[in-house]
Amino acid sequence: MSGETVGERYRQVSGRVAAAARRAGRDPGAVRLVVVTKTQTPERVRATYDAGARVFGENYVQEAAAKIDVLPRDAEWHMIGHLQSNKARKAVDLFSWIHTVDRPSVGRALERAAGGAGGRVDVLLQVNVAGEASKSGASPDEAITLARRAGEWPHLQIRGLMAIPPFRADPEDARADFRALRALADRIREMGLPGVAMDELSMGMSHDFEVAIEEGATWVRVGSAIFGPRDG
Ligand SMILES: *Cc1c(COP(=O)(O)O)cnc(C)c1O
Repeated sequence: MSGETVGERYRQVSGRVAAAARRAGRDPGAVRLVVVTKTQTPERVRATYDAGARVFGENYVQEAAAKIDVLPRDAEWHMIGHLQSNKARKAVDLFSWIHTVDRPSVGRALERAAGGAGGRVDVLLQVNVAGEASKSGASPDEAITLARRAGEWPHLQIRGLMAIPPFRADPEDARADFRALRALADRIREMGLPGVAMDELSMGMSHDFEVAIEEGATWVRVGSAIFGPRDG
């Protein structure tokens, strides 16, 4: 990775996203790249914007605010980190998408915040696909329960599902997790619940986004393949 600029790596990753979509027989426009900016300086984030990036993902509400200020207004920000209910108002102010709704208290808090702001927020339900004890995310059954409650949250549009499967040395081994997420989204979509669209799948990171695209990802969230390793 050394020798290349952040902007060059952003363009390479964008090219790989489009190529993976084409190889899978999908419309490259249907797979969008979220540039994951956690721990990166506003200057480095700006370099990806200058190279063409327009969608950015942040894990922390506080960290996002500083970066949002330095980027032009056409940048779109997605919340991809664990969300606490007491940050819901700030999150609704800063982000147009929230990928991490995983329990009713967060849904309720976002509904209150979005209602107060007079807008609608696009959200994804985060699913703990591999049932890892250490990770946040709803179980598949809990995700179904959350989707059933969408009618109580008129200011939230449930657009689909998100997952962070366990790290697997061989990205091919993540395929089953991606498939499981897609199958769950299909199942929920078929329930025809009001306020639930289920047309989006946020899955795939630096290590495995090409496999995720083959399995139907519509958002891939990529940090280190663009910015380099976070630990320096
Ligand atoms: C950090 C992070 C990413 C990006 O991970 P990379 O492996 O650096 O691409 C994606 N999604 C979430 C939720 C993250 O926290």
